[in-house]
Amino acid sequence: MVPDTHVLDQKATLDSNTKTTYSSCYMCTMDCPTTVVSEGDEIISISHPECIRATGMVEQRESKQRLTTAKIRDTAADDWSQVDYNDAIAHLAEKLTAIRKKYGPEAVAFVVGYTKEARPYFRRLAYSFGSSNYITESSCCFGATFVAAELTYGTDYNHFFQAGRFKQPETKCRVIWSNNPSESLIPYERHHLITEASKVPTIVVEPRRTMLAESATIHLQLRPGTDGALALGIAHILIKKGLDDTEFLNQYAEGYDAYKTYVEDFTPERTSEITGVPAELIIKAAKLYGTSKPAQLAVSQEALVQNSNGLQNHRAVILLAALTGNIDIAGGNRPFDHRLKGKSVALPEGMYRPAENPMGSEKFPLFEEIYNEGQAMLLADYIEQGKIKAVVSFGTNLMMWPNSNRLATALQKLEVFSTSDFFTNPTVNVATVFLPAATHLERQSLVMALNGRVQYRPAAVAPRGQAHGDTEMMFKLADALGLHNQFWGGDISASYEERLSSTELSFADLPKNGKSISLKLLDIPEKNFQKVGFKTPSGKVEFDSSRLRSEGHDGLPIYREPHWSPASSPEIAKDYPMVLSTGIRSKTYSHSQGRELAILREQEPNPRAQIHPDDAAARGILDGDSIEISSPIGRIKVVAWVTDAVLKGVVHAPHGWVTANCNALIPDGEALDPITGYPSFKSSLCQVERA
Ligand code: SF4
Repeated sequence: MVPDTHVLDQKATLDSNTKTTYSSCYMCTMDCPTTVVSEGDEIISISHPECIRATGMVEQRESKQRLTTAKIRDTAADDWSQVDYNDAIAHLAEKLTAIRKKYGPEAVAFVVGYTKEARPYFRRLAYSFGSSNYITESSCCFGATFVAAELTYGTDYNHFFQAGRFKQPETKCRVIWSNNPSESLIPYERHHLITEASKVPTIVVEPRRTMLAESATIHLQLRPGTDGALALGIAHILIKKGLDDTEFLNQYAEGYDAYKTYVEDFTPERTSEITGVPAELIIKAAKLYGTSKPAQLAVSQEALVQNSNGLQNHRAVILLAALTGNIDIAGGNRPFDHRLKGKSVALPEGMYRPAENPMGSEKFPLFEEIYNEGQAMLLADYIEQGKIKAVVSFGTNLMMWPNSNRLATALQKLEVFSTSDFFTNPTVNVATVFLPAATHLERQSLVMALNGRVQYRPAAVAPRGQAHGDTEMMFKLADALGLHNQFWGGDISASYEERLSSTELSFADLPKNGKSISLKLLDIPEKNFQKVGFKTPSGKVEFDSSRLRSEGHDGLPIYREPHWSPASSPEIAKDYPMVLSTGIRSKTYSHSQGRELAILREQEPNPRAQIHPDDAAARGILDGDSIEISSPIGRIKVVAWVTDAVLKGVVHAPHGWVTANCNALIPDGEALDPITGYPSFKSSLCQVERA
């Protein structure tokens, strides 16, 4: 994807001293192509997509608030001492070696958030060190979506969400479930899901009246967390009206009869009662979807699974594509297994993953088996139980965890906690070792985009101060830990060579000024399942999942109320009567990043929570007032955004604000999804008052 370009700053007439670097933006993980003109260490101009976040990249590098010095301290309570970068790495390596000797390698957890670029090395570092406790932000973001799709459709379909967003001319109807492109998918308001909504009949399922919902043919505005019930209700109508694809189902569905029996109870009336969506609208949407073939289902990569019943809700939704026979046909939901994949370098040649199971594998074995990493949501438990004594982290923010304050306290019990970032944040505040990170303009990377774009992105300019690229820091730490040989003898280019070995390219083929090469992805004919089946245990689409059953869960996509909801926990709802949905997207910020940047902060200076006018009036709240949102475990102050775009009784709060961390209101423990360990970010309970 190469969206429109926008010149950030054309400062001077280019002369012979300037350098042009074909780069990529990493203000979020989209890695959009950019062109950087620099002179020495100074950026002259950048052309980048028309994207607010991207406008912050020069300030991110030049900001006076940026942390560019390595620091250490004995405990989080002590004062920092500025140290030489090499000394900080040596100190960290010494501490980790001592902890490994005393408690074993599993006592060290390796945690990564912001950057995905250096993850292959970080996993390798963890395993080479001897710890299987490699954990990432995928423990509450995309991972459960992958698991749900793989359990249901098999490995070829684990990127179900991604394929659902591809534009296909054949599509006659779209169901867009919990996606808000105008705030989250470049080019935002001009995303085809929005611009085509007036041309291709579009059903939007979304708790808020977004720009997309306003453009849609039908908007199903449901109570947050009830997606599973709505999907089962739609299935009920499809089956009753004979709009299920019996030819496909007879041959390729496992457990369909049991599913059919289960959805009988989800009558339009009952579904309406649970979800709040009028019964006639559910019927209308089901008929439109069921009678418009091919139809495409576009699901969010995380919204549905961030719920205590998230995996099953997500399964209920994605099964609608199989129910209507819209699988692997042009215009429907095709697999995306032919995406570009680099060779895994998680393990050095001839080495196996450490024998110990990773974090969370006893509680959430399917997440670990299918997504192949530990479940980070148990980090506080593991620290409190004394199982983890040290954490090495890069670009991690503890605000990502539910009940974040609990984790903040737990992290302070560690014998060593290192982190790396651009700016200070609550995580840096409780660390004992800090390593300053290079921004994407200052660090090299091998970009292997799923769509076939391969790019060696050189550093456009040198890092400020002692900042280093994540990859460089990981190689350095590996060296200090005696893992030089496991890290290609310190040669990062050699690691790129190995990663590229799954393609026809070698590192020498890639232009060193950053120009990219496009590899053509394999064109797989439609209905490939007729040849290879579905890569599930039964070889079919599993309406009733045998893997789920074998782990003691329901095989069917059973609907359960959110852990805390007016229906499931009336005792809590008595004092906290409003449904709380967190994490509303903003095109200004990528998660917790960017609040330090004036250019972005001017666009969106404060965290604003959306509340319905009736709820606001009942509390004497006016638009723009300071309000307090509280739950049984915490309270935050935000600005009221009074709008009828949200349902009465529901509050939508943004995430990523240090001054108002909404995840501190979300419970962990029993509230985690029992299959994936995912938190209930999208549906919990709260009270709102004027502050
Ligand atoms: S911030 Fe915008 S330009 Fe940069 S990678 Fe993300 S979507 Fe692309």
